[in-house]
Amino acid sequence: MDSNKARTVAVIGGGIAGLTAGLCFARTGAKVTVYEQADELKEVGAGLQVTPNGAAVLRGLGLDGEADRLGLRARNLTPIDAVSGRPIARFDLTRLGGEPYRFFHRADLLGLLATACDAEGVRIVTSARIESADPDGQITLAGGATVRADLVLGADGIHSKLRPVLNGTDAPFFTGQVAWRSVVQMPNPPAEAQIWMAPGQHVVTYPLIGNRLNIVAVQERSEWAAEGWNFFDSPEVLQAAFASCAPRLRDILGQVQTTRLWGLFRHPVAPVWAKGVSAILGDAAHPTLPFLAQGANLALEDAWVLAALCNRSSSVDDALSRYQSIRAPRVARAIRTANANAVNYHLSGLKRTAAQTGLRTLGAVAPNLFLRRFDWLYGYDVTKELPLR
Ligand SMILES: Cc1cc2nc3c(=O)[nH]c(=O)nc-3n(C[C@H](O)[C@H](O)[C@H](O)COP(=O)(O)OP(=O)(O)OC[C@H]3O[C@@H](n4cnc5c(N)ncnc54)[C@H](O)[C@@H]3O)c2cc1C
Repeated sequence: MDSNKARTVAVIGGGIAGLTAGLCFARTGAKVTVYEQADELKEVGAGLQVTPNGAAVLRGLGLDGEADRLGLRARNLTPIDAVSGRPIARFDLTRLGGEPYRFFHRADLLGLLATACDAEGVRIVTSARIESADPDGQITLAGGATVRADLVLGADGIHSKLRPVLNGTDAPFFTGQVAWRSVVQMPNPPAEAQIWMAPGQHVVTYPLIGNRLNIVAVQERSEWAAEGWNFFDSPEVLQAAFASCAPRLRDILGQVQTTRLWGLFRHPVAPVWAKGVSAILGDAAHPTLPFLAQGANLALEDAWVLAALCNRSSSVDDALSRYQSIRAPRVARAIRTANANAVNYHLSGLKRTAAQTGLRTLGAVAPNLFLRRFDWLYGYDVTKELPLR
């Protein structure tokens, strides 16, 4: 139907959700402007797993070749007992089938999307902080300038300006977990993703291109006392937090030279995702704990769905009324699964022994069965379900 051809779209936020939405709308003919508050499009030095469902969107946008150049295809996933250092099982991620599972540096993924946006004529305005947005299509920039568009998308993350306009105000809550994130350079980083699990804490590592290892180390804490959401922490504090773990993990953490500590905060899923000619997507609509590596992947899917629905409909209103009902059940399931992982990774006592025995048995006798449990997540290809054109 190509209805987007006649539309102007204003996107608040130049993160993964915003750039993907900008690109999807531009590919279907819309005139898109992305407003990003930062002086440049940049990302903290950390990795990101793009799972097959997110890869389907990259492929749908013709970015497969670049994704292979900048991302590393995942091979195995190995859960490890972080106390004894013993691997519990090994799962071959290439057996998932379908699209590849890749590891990216976040800056590379953002750069890939920004370059594609440029090539498609998306206007990306940096140093452009949106102060307010109304559901009827007007946004106000810091400084007072106003812009009107046929569609306004809030891809502005957990501190979204548009989310409270659609839902009323609520403060993000501390989830009781903190995460240190680091990237270390090493001659031969482990070629697989590893999940090191110990009571009350876990560490995920995976390789990035350029002989780098991405490290996310998570610990339960009763409160977050810092004033900001994340800050530079000392590597010694990180190393001390995992001092009772196996020497091999301590060696890896011993290589960390700089690290940032994040308080993991989130909102409940927003009750309302769209109103008038405005909609929220990505973390603005449904922030999730990172324990299923789906926040960015769900954002990629949201962006595609919004553009496809709008392109098939002569009225933005009609398209937006379907958006949340299509997306919400899948997002809720992903969030439930991530929350369950938060518990399962940190078990102690008998529950921990029983869980490890179960995982070991599954890994030995039916590794494919373990992977098939995620078919609903990784096997979903939104580009086939809902083509852009
Ligand atoms: C430790 C950790 C590990 C993770 N690992 C993974 C992973 O492996 N895989 C995965 O899929 N997800 C992962 N995630 C989640 C993922 O990072 C987020 O879900 C994803 O970045 C959300 O993208 P977004 O574009 O919605 O929001 P954001 O990335 O927050 O982007 C929002 C953008 O909007 C801009 N902005 C905000 N307010 C305004 C304003 N008023 N005006 C203009 N611009 C504004 C911001 O500057 C920012 O650029 C992880 C998260 C954490 C904390």
